[in-house]
Amino acid sequence: MKALYPGSFDPLTLGHLDLIERAARLFDGLVVAVLQNPSKNPTFPVERRLDQIRTATAHLPQVEVTSFDGLTVAFAQACGAGVILRGLRAMSDFEFELQIAHTNKSLAPGLETLFMATATAHSFLSSSVVKEVARFGGPVGHMVPQGVAQDLAAFFNRASPEQR
Ligand code: ADP
Repeated sequence: MKALYPGSFDPLTLGHLDLIERAARLFDGLVVAVLQNPSKNPTFPVERRLDQIRTATAHLPQVEVTSFDGLTVAFAQACGAGVILRGLRAMSDFEFELQIAHTNKSLAPGLETLFMATATAHSFLSSSVVKEVARFGGPVGHMVPQGVAQDLAAFFNRASPEQR
C-alpha cells in the first residue's frame, strides 16, 4: 500500500524525517507532499522545501516528494494512496488531528488516517520552534538536516554557530 504524508514542512525537521524513514519501511510507497497553503505565510517557498525534503530523503528510493493544493483527500486519491499519515507529538496535537481525520473520513470513506508517535528524542521539535532558535542564532544542527540548517542560517542572515 501507498501512503501520503502531507504537511507544511516549513522547514523539514529531524522529527519529520524520522517519521518518513519509519513509514518508508511500512509502506511500498510513500508520497511526502508539501501543502501549498495560501492562508499560511511560509518562511521558505514551496520549491525550497521540496529541495530540502528531496535532499534529506535521497537515500529512500520508495519516497516521492511533491507539492499539492486543495483537499488532502482528493490529492491522496489522485496519487493512489490508501493511507494519510500524520505524526503525533503530544496530546496537544491530538484534538486537532482527530478532527481532521474525522473530516477526511466523511469526505473519503475509503481512505484511512494513520497516526505515528513521534520519536521521543524529537517530540519537542516543531518547525516554528526551530525557526525561533535559528532567528536568534542558536544551534539547530540537532533539530534539522544539515541542508536545512544552512538554509535557516542564510534566511536569518547569520552564520550558524556550527559554521562559525
Ligand atoms: P501541518 O501544518 O500540516 O501541521 P507540519 O509540517 O507542522 O504541517 O507537520 C506535518 C506532520 O508532521 C503533522 O502530522 C505533524 O504532527 C507531524 N510532525 C511535526 N513535527 C513532528 C515531529 N517532531 N515528530 C514527528 N512528527 C512531527
